[in-house]
Amino acid sequence: MTGTQTWKTLDDMDLAGKRVLVRVDINVPVEDGKVTDTTRIERITATVDDIQEAGGKVILMAHFGRPKGQVVPEMSLEHIAPAVADVLGLPVTFVDSDYVDAVAEMDDDEVLLLENLRFNPGEEKNDEGFAKRLASLADIYVNDAFSAAHRAHASTEAIARLLPSCAGRLMAEELGALEKALGTPERPLVAVVGGAKVSTKLDLLGNLVGKCDYLVIGGGMANTFLAAQGMDVGKSLCEHDLADTARDILEKAKAAGCEIVLPRDVVVAREFKAGAANEVVAPDACPADAMILDAGPDTVTYISEVFAGAKTLVWNGPLGAFEIEPFDRATNAAAGVAAALTDAGNLISVAGGGDTVAALNQAGVADNFSYISTAGGAFLEWMEGKELPGVAALSA
Ligand code: ADP
Ligand code: MG
Repeated sequence: MTGTQTWKTLDDMDLAGKRVLVRVDINVPVEDGKVTDTTRIERITATVDDIQEAGGKVILMAHFGRPKGQVVPEMSLEHIAPAVADVLGLPVTFVDSDYVDAVAEMDDDEVLLLENLRFNPGEEKNDEGFAKRLASLADIYVNDAFSAAHRAHASTEAIARLLPSCAGRLMAEELGALEKALGTPERPLVAVVGGAKVSTKLDLLGNLVGKCDYLVIGGGMANTFLAAQGMDVGKSLCEHDLADTARDILEKAKAAGCEIVLPRDVVVAREFKAGAANEVVAPDACPADAMILDAGPDTVTYISEVFAGAKTLVWNGPLGAFEIEPFDRATNAAAGVAAALTDAGNLISVAGGGDTVAALNQAGVADNFSYISTAGGAFLEWMEGKELPGVAALSA
């Protein structure tokens, strides 16, 4: 996945008079039949507008929820179509079948929205036959759903082998930002990996120690590393059975010349609740009846120095239990430093992950980062150094 860009973009395609089938992610939150957050729809507007401006006709295809290959009426994209029309400011026609006729009859400025791809069992099976049916509707395939690119599905993988293909604007933006951060980064490169457990981020840690100049380990997973070095972490969240794994990672980092930054001081409390009485202690001084819930101020000072000397930062996972005050302090402070360095033009900062994005929003700095990925699983797999089938198919 690293190296030079091999996928095409809209600029490389001749779109005039062409039918363009665009895979998008409009899996938006819905409550009581109403779309409550249109962010994902807003993010496809550049692609739709640019295709139409270049004279192409736009046919949108997407999934919604997990219908598991069956028709589930509540998960029909028919319910989302009005919001898509609203946000795009264009006539959007939802089609549940008879795709061929609908495409033949469509106007230039009209946008077609096909039914939930996952109603067809062929979608998640990456079925060639289903991909062929979709491909027969169009002249060109555009993938603008990076967040679905880690899955080899008919609409993300098989179809790219059947039609001239390229990345949409959002996909290209995301790939460009990630490539800059991890593919060919300006160094020093710092990674922050925090969050709850080492076990969910083994591949991530394994990939990053080989790539980064500094790896800051925070959150609950830092406890596993402290314990692996013989420290008593009391009642902290800790995976004692992963002590060997943690030691392996430390060894691998040493061999690769990557400095591992572990907490130099920690915030401990006896209760996991907002406003719980707490104190700052050395990492080896957690009382037996207490738990480590955040990194301490000395740690933040050191992390800030590391950030200040870096050119690129990738971040996944909060440094502490950021959902409850005051254990959001280290995360907020480090995020603030990264934001200021980014604003000053001294740092490229890329972050992703469900809780990480929530934490950065809570810290009020999400807009200051160079790039915030909302792609979830696809972002993590990319950080793990895995090839994403949907991206690989575009490069073939
Ligand atoms: P992301 O969703 O960004 O990948 P994770 O899901 O891995 O992040 O981690 C976020 C969770 O980690 C949060 O719920 C946070 O409360 C928890 N966490 C962080 N530090 C600690 C800690 N010291 N003890 C317990 N939980 C922690
Ligand atoms: Mg999470």
